[in-house]
Amino acid sequence: MEKLIFETLATWSTQSKCQGSHVAAAAVHNNRLLGIGYNGTPRKTRNCDEVFKKVVNGDKTEYYILFDSELDKWAAEGNFNLKIMPDYSAMRNCTDYVGDKAKDLFNYLHGKWSTKYEVHAEMNLIFNLLKQGCNIPMDQVVIYTNISPCDQCLKNLAGLGVKEIHFKEVYWRSNPAELYQAAKRLNINLFYKGEPFLGSA
Ligand SMILES: [Zn+2]
Repeated sequence: MEKLIFETLATWSTQSKCQGSHVAAAAVHNNRLLGIGYNGTPRKTRNCDEVFKKVVNGDKTEYYILFDSELDKWAAEGNFNLKIMPDYSAMRNCTDYVGDKAKDLFNYLHGKWSTKYEVHAEMNLIFNLLKQGCNIPMDQVVIYTNISPCDQCLKNLAGLGVKEIHFKEVYWRSNPAELYQAAKRLNINLFYKGEPFLGSA
């Protein structure tokens, strides 16, 4: 079952238009799949790939961002010496403006933008269950996700009553020991590679 769910999540995560990470989450009850969610912006709003674009060319990656006034403001706050662009309609290659800091600028701006506009896979999963009218108590539902939950999602899932989460890999920004500690405090049992997660990846 676990293997099948993670294969399903790997397929669904490709639907994500996020240029940061592709995450999918599933809810399972009594070995039955209740629903799937993946990370992205709310329906009928601008997708991540309309604002950010990573283009891999052999061994080098180019970073493009759509220049808009909000991103310009954040770039200035982050001390990136970004020239204000006269034309806000097109994507620009970051390298042309900040040279070898292109990746840093891209990750920094994407982090800001994503926090403000993107909904994580776990939350979209819950919204999908609600839209379907699911009324199964969440303490009987097991959550699966290809990448471990962030602090916000972990807290929100605990608030919903979720008791068990399985993940395939630890999110690169997360500290495994802190993730373990937070889950313990929130009374959530984490499972990694089918075994109880003990704070090391
Ligand atoms: Zn994104």
